[in-house]
Amino acid sequence: MNLPPALLTSLIGLPGYEAGAFTAVHEAGAQLTSIRINPAKVTNEAAALFPGINTTPIPWAEKGYYLSERPSFTFDPLFHAGCYYVQEASSMLPELAIRQHTDEATPLRVLDLCAAPGGKSTHLQSILPQDSLLVSNEVIRSRAGILKDNMIKWGSANVVVTNNDPADFSRLQHYFDIILADAPCSGSGLFRRDPDAISEWSENNVQLCSQRQQRILADAWPALKPGGLLIYSTCSYSQPEDEAIVQWMIKELKAEYLPLQLAAGSGITDTGHGYRCWPHLVAGEGFFIACLRKTTGEENDVIYKWKEKPATLNKQQAAVVSAWIREGDHFLLPNENTIYIWPVNRVAELAALRLQLRFVYSGVLAGELVRDKLIPAHALAMSTLLSKEVKQYSLSKETAIQYLQRKEFLPDD
Ligand code: SAM
Repeated sequence: MNLPPALLTSLIGLPGYEAGAFTAVHEAGAQLTSIRINPAKVTNEAAALFPGINTTPIPWAEKGYYLSERPSFTFDPLFHAGCYYVQEASSMLPELAIRQHTDEATPLRVLDLCAAPGGKSTHLQSILPQDSLLVSNEVIRSRAGILKDNMIKWGSANVVVTNNDPADFSRLQHYFDIILADAPCSGSGLFRRDPDAISEWSENNVQLCSQRQQRILADAWPALKPGGLLIYSTCSYSQPEDEAIVQWMIKELKAEYLPLQLAAGSGITDTGHGYRCWPHLVAGEGFFIACLRKTTGEENDVIYKWKEKPATLNKQQAAVVSAWIREGDHFLLPNENTIYIWPVNRVAELAALRLQLRFVYSGVLAGELVRDKLIPAHALAMSTLLSKEVKQYSLSKETAIQYLQRKEFLPDD
């Protein structure tokens, strides 16, 4: 593996960097496998999901586990059912910032600004306080579609997938309690896993990425509430994309830097302006994270009032759809022939957000109303809102795989 000499030179002197160990770990090319369990769908121990494979907890993520070997995920029906997400261990670090700097009893409005394919959004969905609202955004249209699919698979209802440029969020002044910016970067932290990416690395690209990161943060900053948290991360080792961006936020945006408590022996390096995962020190790929608080502006909660009430179903239609949904307060939103389920406490907000942002998906798609019947959507089956009264049929693993391969299958009995 030929790591770019200019990259190696630029890393000399950074806390935690050791040239020999860093190069050796890349040359060894060992691959780690880790997953994160979906607590909304799985109550079993992780080991029960991966028979014959050792599972070891990831110290900074409650539901994260290393696997001793890589199973075939594409042939695992539980993977397709959204029971777990295959995610690199270092990328689970935002959990520390959320747990240490938010109150777990207060619902939050959270923006995941650069969200596709959805690793961090699915993670946020699992750890945010109940009744929180996640806006999961991706600027590239095709990637927003992948993000939507992954959010549907994860199954939670308090989410909106949007396809907007970061600048569009400046219209939502002081709206979000947390913005997570997992920024596009030069990607050196993933070289061990993806050596082909090495050829795309250049010093010039690091500079371009650094400028783009500043632009993204400056664009989204007005949407953060005074007192709110900005969690910034990259998978780059380059200082201009990491600590320099944090220093820029402190200087230009008057942000306050918030330290994180690291578990003893995690191997994560505290650089004073963020936390780095070096692959020779941490069981994970290269990653950088920092947490900052907005100190400017007046703290006053943005309240959305009804401007125009969204359309509703008539009583009979509502009864037809409700028969498919778990008991509870849900708002049923007709959208042409389809029906979406929105969290009832967020309806005014969602209706207002829909006027400002390009929605790709919101809440849970229940299905299509055809005369007096609901043709249920796949998304409803994947969600945690499906009524327990709806008949369910268990398949053997082999039959489930046949189904996933779109082959014909006969019920096992
Ligand atoms: N957070 C994601 C996850 O955990 O699965 C990974 C995000 S990836 C590091 C960065 C994302 O930023 C990509 O999906 C990319 O399409 C998006 N992106 C690229 N250019 C952007 C821009 N100018 N503004 C905002 N996002 C951008």
